[in-house]
Amino acid sequence: MSYQRILIKIGTSTLTRGTNQLDLPKLIDIVRQVSVVQSRGVQMTLVSSGAVAAGRELLNYPIVAKHVPGKQLLSSIGQPRLMSIYSDLFKMYGHNVAQILLTRSDFVNRRSYLNARNTMECLLDQNVIPIINENDAIATDEIRLGDNDTMSAYVSGLIGADLLVLLTDQNGLFTDNPEKNADARLIDTVDTPDIHPFLWEAAGGSVSGLGTGGMHTKLRAADLARRMGTTTMIVNGAIEDIIIRIASGERFGTVFRPTNTVLESLKRYLLTGYNPGTSAITIDAGAEKAVHAGKSLLPAGIKSVRGEFDRGDTVKIVNEQEEEIILGMVNYSSEEIKKICGMKANQIESILGYCYTEEVVHRDNMIGSEII
Ligand code: GLU
Repeated sequence: MSYQRILIKIGTSTLTRGTNQLDLPKLIDIVRQVSVVQSRGVQMTLVSSGAVAAGRELLNYPIVAKHVPGKQLLSSIGQPRLMSIYSDLFKMYGHNVAQILLTRSDFVNRRSYLNARNTMECLLDQNVIPIINENDAIATDEIRLGDNDTMSAYVSGLIGADLLVLLTDQNGLFTDNPEKNADARLIDTVDTPDIHPFLWEAAGGSVSGLGTGGMHTKLRAADLARRMGTTTMIVNGAIEDIIIRIASGERFGTVFRPTNTVLESLKRYLLTGYNPGTSAITIDAGAEKAVHAGKSLLPAGIKSVRGEFDRGDTVKIVNEQEEEIILGMVNYSSEEIKKICGMKANQIESILGYCYTEEVVHRDNMIGSEII
């Protein structure tokens, strides 16, 4: 199996190797491995924790209340420190990084989701390595995901990753706590549609399980990611060259096979934003041909717009004979498309005063009309 788009989740315990400060040799090792794989042409993305730990270290371990503002203080101080280390280290290997801070609302709100998706696609296209963390500095409990395992599952759906690697301090998911039970076996593959209740229990459904590494959260994240079409591995981040070896096809730890494809999962997402009412975009014969050939829909090929819809909604695209061609997630609202239809892409900015993208519907955000 050769992976094209790999997401690596690195937790605080991996970055600090269980101490109370960032472990620079460990960071260097991770950066080196990610760089080697990126240089082979694989698009790498990181979800990295460590902001709060870095903040604590920078402030010399202050006594900070455990409430939300305390954590926000530490993360807002630590996040730039963490990024500056990543940025300097990756630069040594010839790679650029980008910081993306997200919260749950960015995945729930379709406009934000589209923004995040477009930005990620641009970065990956430019061979930049995005480094994602939760936007702890501003996120309050109502809008937080709260942990980066869950964040990485959502991000795997956002970018259509074909592999998510959850680095942990355990060798994978076991049938019982291996430190207490010599008969505990490593689960090497999870490929059933539903996760068996005994696995949830083994992962620490109660405090007595393998809860130390947050295994229950990891299992939930792995289950979510595989439902989005991403093969997911829970592996021990301490194994030598683990990232390089996994990217080369070796297998370690517990592997969760996808329950559907990335494409099916995208289709499902697009369908959740579809309102099968009367809204539609009518396109000309040239645009119809282009769309059938797998190209994006540009404003020049649009004849007219019906109904009202927002950026990020999924809209029916029809030809001049009213035949339904595709469903597409739109980069512009109905109001905006009314102003730019028939125009060249390079005129969008002068007409609207801004240009999100040249495409009204990107080719990756279309699904066939057979679903309508
Ligand atoms: N976002 C937090 C941090 O950077 C970590 C959250 C987690 O460990 O899951 O420190």
